Parts: sequence; C-alpha cells; structure tokens
Amino acid sequence: MRCFNDKLAEKIARAPRVFFFFDYDGTLTPIVQRPEKAVLKKDVRESLRALSRFKGVKIAIVSGRSLKDLQGVAGPIPGAIYAGNHGLEIKSKDFNWIYPAAKQAAKVMARIRADLKKKIRPVAGMLLENKTLGISLHYRLVPESKVASLYAQFQKAIAPWLRLGMIRVQEGKKVWEVRFRPRLWHKGKIVQQLLKKHCQGGRFLPVFFGDDRTDEDAFGALSSSGITVKVTQNPRAVSKARYYIHSPAEVFDFLRYLIQSRRAHFRGICS
Ligand SMILES: [Mg+2]
Repeated sequence: MRCFNDKLAEKIARAPRVFFFFDYDGTLTPIVQRPEKAVLKKDVRESLRALSRFKGVKIAIVSGRSLKDLQGVAGPIPGAIYAGNHGLEIKSKDFNWIYPAAKQAAKVMARIRADLKKKIRPVAGMLLENKTLGISLHYRLVPESKVASLYAQFQKAIAPWLRLGMIRVQEGKKVWEVRFRPRLWHKGKIVQQLLKKHCQGGRFLPVFFGDDRTDEDAFGALSSSGITVKVTQNPRAVSKARYYIHSPAEVFDFLRYLIQSRRAHFRGICS
C-alpha cells in the first residue's frame, strides 16, 4: 500500500462526481472498548453533512452494525445512505431496502443466539451483541488468559450451525462475528449495487475508506475503478487497498480539506 497523499486528496477534491463509501468503526470513529460508545463525534458528523450537500457528491456508510445501531451511533446525516449488516439493510432518504431472505434469517439468528447463550459459560468482560442479522461476541474486555477457552467454547457451539451453510464466522478486531451471509453478498457487492443504482446520470469516482477484513471485499471490487484506502497503522499489512491512512483522525483531516477545497474549486455549483 502507498500512503494516502496530498496529490490523491486533490484529485478527489477536483473530481466532478465522487461517491464516498465509509466503513464506520475504526474508520470514521476510533475503535473503543464497548461498541455502543463509538458515537460519531459532532464535528465529523457535521463534515459528512457538509460534504453530502455538495452537488456531485454521494456518501454511504457501510457497516457490519445493524442498520438501527448504525443510525443510532452515526446520528442523522440527511444526505447519506446507511448500509447496515454489510449492506443487508439499506436506508436513505429516498428508499429502504432489505435483503429478501433477511426476515427468515433473523429467526435463525435468534435461535443461534439462544444456543450460544446456553452453551458458552459467561466470562467477565464478554459481550454478546445482538445485531438481528448477526451476533457479535466481543472479547476486548475478557482477560487474556481466558480468551482461548472462550474461543474453544464458541467454536464448539457454532460448529453445527456452520455446517448448515447459512452463516459465516469472521474474526474482526477483538470480536468474533456470526452473520447471516448469503454467499454472494458482501461489502464489495453492496458498493457495486449502490454505484449502479445511484449513478445512472454519469460516472462517479468511487472512494472507499475501511479498516477491517470485511472491507477487503470492497477494496477488491473497486481495485480498478476506484480509490481504496485502508485505515491502518501498519502500511505493510496485507490488503487489497491501494492506499493507507493512519487513523480516523486523518480521515477527518481529509474530510475537512475536501470541504474547503470543493468550496474553492466548485464555487457556484455547490448547493
Ligand atoms: Mg471497521
């Protein structure tokens, strides 16, 4: 990966049409001990609002959180598209969409959740989060010495469900995620769908910022057509992203630059 640089920032600022995709946790907001505390800072939200008001700019926040949860922590950004559960649930001011099989899946997930609760011995610090179409087992606050045994219990409990083929288990940052994942649906697909649906009037430059494994699908999908940026402290990390930026704070710096720059370059056509 190459460092996200001024030249690239300028290219994005000057592009007549840009479709921004932002992952949420670890990208727009730092990773925190408890997911419910990751509320978007007011000045970041204001920047996203300002950005979404420019003509020729679209914004989507694409997260593994449930849609309801994502809307809660991100707060209202009237011009943005919110895509929860990796795009299985989407909402913007013009439309609502839910993956067709998702209703059925919610019932299965409820059964899996009950099963995990029954089979995993609770450990201090563990947090089993209900995402309707997914379950997250957070272990950030679990003592290091207990993580391995917790994982073993989790694996044993989830194995029969995995064999049924309806779910996937993914490891994130101090979290094991169980999610209803239709084989062909991931962040890469949702990005392509949103581009297709919203950009019939002309070509948009897709720009994707993300920090975690599930963002890799989107990096891959946009590898030839867009600008892909991984938020990471480690530029040598293996990733399909072309560029890296160090932190959510740097993403925010870029947002502020972008607003200033677009105001200067696009004077007269911004609403
Ligand atoms: Mg993330």
